[in-house]
Amino acid sequence: MTRQENRLQLGFVLGCLAIMFPGTAIAQQDIPAASIAVINESIVTSTVSFLASDEMRGRDTPSPELTIASSYVAARFLGAGLKGLGEDGSFYQNNEITVSQVSDGALRVKRDGVAITTYGLLSASDESFDYQGEVKMLTAENSNDEKFDGPVCIVAEKFKSRRDQSNLMRRLARLRENGATAIIVQVEPDHRLVGMASSSGAPRMQTGRESSSGHVVLIEKGVVEGDYEISLPRQMTSTAIVRNVIGMIPGSDPELAKEAIIISAHLDHVGIKGNVGDVICNGADDNASGVTAVLSLADAFAVMPQGPKRTVIFMTFWGEEKGLLGSRYYVSNPIWPLEKTVANVNIEMIGRPEAGASGKCWSTGWDESDMSELMSVGAKEVGVLIFQHPQFSGDMLYRSSDNYPFAQKGVIAHSFSAGSLHEDYHMPGDESQKLDFRHMTKVIQGLFAGTLPMANGEVTPKKK
Ligand SMILES: [Zn+2]
Repeated sequence: MTRQENRLQLGFVLGCLAIMFPGTAIAQQDIPAASIAVINESIVTSTVSFLASDEMRGRDTPSPELTIASSYVAARFLGAGLKGLGEDGSFYQNNEITVSQVSDGALRVKRDGVAITTYGLLSASDESFDYQGEVKMLTAENSNDEKFDGPVCIVAEKFKSRRDQSNLMRRLARLRENGATAIIVQVEPDHRLVGMASSSGAPRMQTGRESSSGHVVLIEKGVVEGDYEISLPRQMTSTAIVRNVIGMIPGSDPELAKEAIIISAHLDHVGIKGNVGDVICNGADDNASGVTAVLSLADAFAVMPQGPKRTVIFMTFWGEEKGLLGSRYYVSNPIWPLEKTVANVNIEMIGRPEAGASGKCWSTGWDESDMSELMSVGAKEVGVLIFQHPQFSGDMLYRSSDNYPFAQKGVIAHSFSAGSLHEDYHMPGDESQKLDFRHMTKVIQGLFAGTLPMANGEVTPKKK
């Protein structure tokens, strides 16, 4: 497209916007019409529908389907003309992780010959554990400094805060150091630990050095002294390659090109839940919608006639659902210097607006920097409101998404969402048929117009 055609189209788009949004200040920045045009409902619908299809089986970390999804992201980056920022010029930042899994089949705990209800293993070791005899019953008081040479049993009260969980983990580690050969933990069936145990079917991920953390088994509450018979299976350990997908558009200004904006979203989701009916957690809103935004934004920045002045990097992460693992890995192994990373625009759940919030978008950690306000100025030019959400713009979601590892390293980083905490969150019902594609498309256009002044070096976000 020639520049003149581009201007004509721009004039057309602005004209339409003026009709659609009377009274909105327009044309404060030169928004390339071609960029707005490539962010359209057709491509948004097809992208998110593929990523959230049943064939992707919920994109668990690690899984063959997550690998296929990352290959799709890389193919789209290639098609948009992005440059690979990964290993050997590829789009992949590979990382080998250790995955431990136990099968509950061989798990047995009996007292005086009677089977005790078990809720799975919290951890295991590389050897199976078989024992007959007494188990030392511990109270909160007597367990700290004693030495052991056999299994012990403790009671875990319900967690009232995050600190309760870390206190328990520390206690388990101390018991192990003091010689406990296996730890039996008594819990109520609805205790948070039960969802974390092996019976939930989730493989346990270790990204660092492999460590075998010893047997910890969950059992029903109310168990007392007696003659025990314990049989616990060993963990099976394997490795898997997981990858962040990273592409970039080099800045068009020789000086500003040294600085980068990172636009990101997590590609993984929670996989399969349960074993009857629809078990696939498709993760359409969470977060195929965010990845779709990253891909459409890559298309939009790539067709800018002049190109953005700063470098713009596009990234998808693995392992967000397992504890922000992919983004943490990136900030520990940054490919672009973090001190030259001006901003991280992370995108999470933009497909299912709250009532009355169609075409609107909010950010987390609003008060941490002026970035959301800066972006709201640009977004407004295409009729999208970026606002401070009364409930979600605070600290809680700011710390629980992939922007946070960047923020912890001093990068100005926020997550942008245009969704809701709906009843299908992390459930099989989070499917693409329930998304509002028109709303998504609009919001992505708004994120483009909102990011553009930063990408062109016209504004630089600052901490408040
Ligand atoms: Zn998410």
